[in-house]
Amino acid sequence: MEVRDLKLDGNAIGGILLELFGAELTAAPCVCGGCGAREEVARLEVYVGAGLVVRCPHCEAVLIRIVQSRARTWLDLSGTASLELGSP
Ligand SMILES: [Zn+2]
Repeated sequence: MEVRDLKLDGNAIGGILLELFGAELTAAPCVCGGCGAREEVARLEVYVGAGLVVRCPHCEAVLIRIVQSRARTWLDLSGTASLELGSP
């Protein structure tokens, strides 16, 4: 049986980003490294499979990958041109 990845929006990773960065980032602007589109994290597309894959809603480039085990988190931001962290 094939399990299709579950597609969510960027609010789905709000909790994990808060845990990793210590800041609420769903409203943070994220610039796609592929097409240069600038979108709030909440508007990105999140696919839940073995880990979390966050894609650009414009060009579908992978912006962020997050894989967690019990003791570690792997965070891959290589598809992101920038992620803007504001002060609270
Ligand atoms: Zn893009």
